[in-house]
Amino acid sequence: MNNGQKRFPRAVVLFGPPGSGKGTQAKLLIERTGFPQISTGDMLREHIHAGDEIGREVAALMHAGSLVPDDLVNSLVKQRLSRPDCRNGFILDGYPRTQQQAERLGALLEGWGIDQVVIHLVVDYNMIIARLTGRRQCPVCGTLYNALSRPPNQPEVCDLDGARLVIREDDSELVIRERLEEYDRQTRPVLDYFSRAGRRLYEVDASREAPPVLCERIFELIENGG
Ligand code: ADP
Repeated sequence: MNNGQKRFPRAVVLFGPPGSGKGTQAKLLIERTGFPQISTGDMLREHIHAGDEIGREVAALMHAGSLVPDDLVNSLVKQRLSRPDCRNGFILDGYPRTQQQAERLGALLEGWGIDQVVIHLVVDYNMIIARLTGRRQCPVCGTLYNALSRPPNQPEVCDLDGARLVIREDDSELVIRERLEEYDRQTRPVLDYFSRAGRRLYEVDASREAPPVLCERIFELIENGG
């Protein structure tokens, strides 16, 4: 019918707490699948940088580590998924994060006839704290570094373009704690919703293996199931 297009499901949801490696895996999976990464966090930060109306609405919430309103994220995602580069599939990174978002996404994908697979990245709490406090990003190319697991060749400088690395504003310890609490309160329960709704849901241990090895395992699950 659709000659091989369905080799793997088209909507890949990367699910897990802040610092579980969703962004890193999404970037590796782009190469593996050819699908674009849809990161609601990145999209919202772009609006903040642009200083537009959406950016002004979400800035304070994001800097405090709180979730932004469901309706706003739902409509941003719907618009983004309607673009041509999402036609064959996409990788959702950081969405859905509440049951309301998950329900909206489910309805949307069902309407479009798109399969959904959820990959839950499981990581130990202490490792999350270590990862988030050591995290740096290149403001130019977006490459992620980590003081512990992936230090740049030269401290605080991007290997690829020489730009000075930055710490995300919401990676301060107080805000990290709030983001983790939001995760426990609003996001973790979405896993039960996924199970009840009969979604394909796979758990992977995201604290042991090197990112490329984990990416292969995730790709296998997406393609062949567990
Ligand atoms: P992390 O997963 O490390 O917390 P993200 O970049 O995914 O980082 O998200 C950063 C912030 O963006 C969140 O703390 C929240 O304020 C906002 N955000 C991102 N995605 C969503 C979403 N789906 N729903 C509500 N808020 C979101």
